Amino acid sequence: MHDFDYKHGKLHCADVSLKGIAHELGTPFYCYSLPTLKRHVRAFEDPLAGVDHQTCFAMKANSSLAILAFMAGQGLGADVVSGGELYRAIKAGIPGNKIVYSGVGKTTDEIDMAIHAGIMMFNIESEQELEVINARAGKLGKKAPISIRVNPDVDPKTHPYISTGMKNNKFGIDIEGSMAQYLRAKNMENIEIVGIDCHIGSQLTEVRPFIDAAARLKALIANLASLGVELRYLDLGGGLGITYLDEEPPNPKEYCAAIIDAVGNLGLKLIFEPGRVIVGNAGVLVTEVLYRKETAAKTFIIVDAGMNDLLRPALYGSYHDIKPLEEKNGETIKADVVGPICESSDFLAKDRDLPNLIRGDMIAVMSAGAYGFTMASNYNSRTKPPEVLVDGAEYYVLSKRQTYEDLIVAENIPETVR
Ligand SMILES: *Cc1c(COP(=O)(O)O)cnc(C)c1O
Repeated sequence: MHDFDYKHGKLHCADVSLKGIAHELGTPFYCYSLPTLKRHVRAFEDPLAGVDHQTCFAMKANSSLAILAFMAGQGLGADVVSGGELYRAIKAGIPGNKIVYSGVGKTTDEIDMAIHAGIMMFNIESEQELEVINARAGKLGKKAPISIRVNPDVDPKTHPYISTGMKNNKFGIDIEGSMAQYLRAKNMENIEIVGIDCHIGSQLTEVRPFIDAAARLKALIANLASLGVELRYLDLGGGLGITYLDEEPPNPKEYCAAIIDAVGNLGLKLIFEPGRVIVGNAGVLVTEVLYRKETAAKTFIIVDAGMNDLLRPALYGSYHDIKPLEEKNGETIKADVVGPICESSDFLAKDRDLPNLIRGDMIAVMSAGAYGFTMASNYNSRTKPPEVLVDGAEYYVLSKRQTYEDLIVAENIPETVR
C-alpha cells in the first residue's frame, strides 16, 4: 500500500504532483510519503499492542534524519550497523536505550561510542568481538549489554546477497558456538548478557523461515536457562519482504501473529528490526528521460538517474516498477531503462513493457524508499539527489541536492604532485 496515485492523469504523492516537485527541484530526486510511513508503522505496531516489545527500525534501509525523527516520535528505536548510523540515530532523537547495534565489523571506536551512548545491546557476531567488547567496557569502567546473534542455519529463500542466516554466511554464530559463547560471556567481568538475536535475511516472502528460526532460538533459550543464563530480550531481526512486482509476502499482521505464536510465553521482551517493510513502498525515485536510443538489438530509454542513485537493480538484479508521471495510453514499447553511468550494469529496468516514452518525459521508479538513497554514491562524480517528504498538500526538502563543491570539499592537492 502506498500513496502514489494518478489524479487527473498526473502521478501524485498524496496531494502533491511529482511533476510540480520536479519543476522546482529538478531531477532526479527521491520522494517519500509521510502518510504511507505512518500507515506502515501502525501496520507493524498495532498487531503488537499488548505484547511486550520494542521495534528498532533498521536504519540502513533509510537513514534520513527526518525519517528517523519521525520513527522516534512513533516510539521506535533503531538497529544500527556503524558509528555513523549511531550518530544519526542519536541526532534524530532516538534514545540510546532503544538502540541495538548489529554488524560483523564493529571497530574499537564504534564500540566505545556505543557504550557511552548507553545502547540497549550489542548483537555479537563473533567470539573475538565478544572479547574486545568486554575489554573496552572494562577500560571505560562499564558493563556492556550483549546478545549473541545466532546463525540458525535456515534458508530464507531470498536473493543470496541478502541471505544472512545460513551456515556459509559471515553473520552470527552457529547454535553450538552460541551456547559456548554465552557460557564464556557469563564469566566476563564487563559483559552483561541481556538477550539473544537472529536476523536471517531480507525480502523474505514466507513466514516459514522466521518460524523455523524462532523455534531454534527457543530451544537454545531453554538450554541456556537450564545452565543459569537468563535473558531479557529476544530479538527476531527484520527481513519481512514487500511487493515490488508480484511477490505476495505475509502482511505485518500475519507475520507478527505467526511470530507471537511460535515464540509462545517465554516472558521475554520481543525486539523487531524491520527496515524495508516500513519504508520500501513509501518512496520513489523520479527521473527524466534524456534520450531514446534505438539499436539493432534494443531500445534504450536513457534517464538522468543511474546506479549511483539507485543501486539495487545493478547489485541484485532487482525489479522496480516504472510509472510515467503523466499517464500515457496507446502504443507501448519494450525497452531497457538505463542511466548515464559508464557501466553495463547501470540499468533501472530491463526488457520492460513501457509506455511510449520520449525525451523530456518523467518517470517514477517505484518502491525506492528502502536501500535507495542510503546506497547512493558519487560514482562518476555525480552529485547525490535531494530527498523530499510529502505530507498532505505540502512537501519538505529533507536533504538538498549535492553541489559540485560538495564533491571536492574534503579533498586536498599536496604540493608534491605539482
Ligand atoms: C538489514 C538488517 C535488518 C533489516 O532488514 P529488512 O529486510 O530491511 O527488514 C535488520 N537487522 C539486521 C541485523 C540487518 O542487517
